[in-house]
Amino acid sequence: MKNNFMKKSIFVIQKHDATTLHYDFRIEVDGVLKSWAVPKGPSLNPKDKRLAIMTTDHKMSYAKFEGVIPEGEYGAGVVMIWDKGTYKNIKETDGKIVPIKKCLKEGRAEIFLDGEKLKGGFALIKMKNSDKNWLLIKMKDEFADARRNPVSSEPRSAVTSRTLKEIEKDVK
Ligand code: MN
Repeated sequence: MKNNFMKKSIFVIQKHDATTLHYDFRIEVDGVLKSWAVPKGPSLNPKDKRLAIMTTDHKMSYAKFEGVIPEGEYGAGVVMIWDKGTYKNIKETDGKIVPIKKCLKEGRAEIFLDGEKLKGGFALIKMKNSDKNWLLIKMKDEFADARRNPVSSEPRSAVTSRTLKEIEKDVK
């Protein structure tokens, strides 16, 4: 019997030093990576509302990319896999999980991340009167932590432990 019920979907956060440094937050939805650019990166403090600008869907294979996008190409700059793992859709209405596609269409998703740096529930909430501006907010749970700031305290790759500078140097 085909049963995708237990299949976990992946997420990846790529630290991307392009025109400006940002974090590309990507989640697997129906075979593509739905993507948001988060200028300040994720926060574990539920009081922080991090701007997350929806960008184009990426191919699943892009989740494994760490390296340098050459000058002249879209997104030119260094890309690091800053965090990766799986996520679970936890958005419920009347005790039932709302399909993630519906959540995204309605502008409110709640996902539970099981990454190497990030764990716990995060909400993605679309801003009113905006096409592409969302907010990424840590939900209140046991993993919320206003003192821990992994964006600054854990700057290295989740895959290779390299810094952005080391990734850049390795391709030269
Ligand atoms: Mn980017």
